[in-house]
Amino acid sequence: MSVYDKLDLERYSRQIPVFHMNGQIRLAESTAAVVGLGGLGSLISYYLAAAGVGRLVIVDGESVELSNLNRQILYETEDIGLPKAVLAAKRLKGLNPNVDVVPHPEPINRSNVSDILNGVDVIIDALDDWSARLILDEFAEKTGVPLIHGAVDGLFGQATTVVPGKTPCLACIAPKRLGNRGCRAAVGPVVGLIASLEALEAVKILSGLEPSMAGYLVVVDARDLHVDLIKLEKVDCDTCRSRIYS
Ligand SMILES: [Zn+2]
Repeated sequence: MSVYDKLDLERYSRQIPVFHMNGQIRLAESTAAVVGLGGLGSLISYYLAAAGVGRLVIVDGESVELSNLNRQILYETEDIGLPKAVLAAKRLKGLNPNVDVVPHPEPINRSNVSDILNGVDVIIDALDDWSARLILDEFAEKTGVPLIHGAVDGLFGQATTVVPGKTPCLACIAPKRLGNRGCRAAVGPVVGLIASLEALEAVKILSGLEPSMAGYLVVVDARDLHVDLIKLEKVDCDTCRSRIYS
């Protein structure tokens, strides 16, 4: 399918005034990887498919559990036990048949990251696990592909954009001790807030607009809706040092 076949103008008529035709064409020509198809990934992948991103690489090795359904809005009760990546691909194609969806029903790791993320224009971290996030970070720093990070814990959330070579990397801001993944509190609308920030940033980057979170950590405290924008400082971390492109 050519890019022009994908440009369903009526579908995108309410956003073309913002992105213009040029930006809409750029979206249709681009590939985004959404790594993690839980609460964050559900919304991010849905918004990116809706916006007309040409190709979506979606990655998650898990199956749907009942405790996912307070926030993982791509899935339904009857999906319990089925693989998220396969279900998500079906839902995203149902929303927008013009999007090529490439599902990977496997967890990201050091052996498969290069194959799965080969050729993507932006990587979106929708994971709940810092060890896996740092694998994305190393790939981003090696290839120069921007990486959009988001994380949620209870009523707190954070997001930033790593532009390799220009901003601190994710390892620069990672917790010193990487805790166990999952089983933390997660409130649906807080996940939605952070997912929306990540999806918006991806659409901006892919359509040719400037990213808004590059070099800044957005921290949301949803208890009193306090939002902080913290300028990130580079530290001389191993991942930044390993950068091999200019
Ligand atoms: Zn770093």
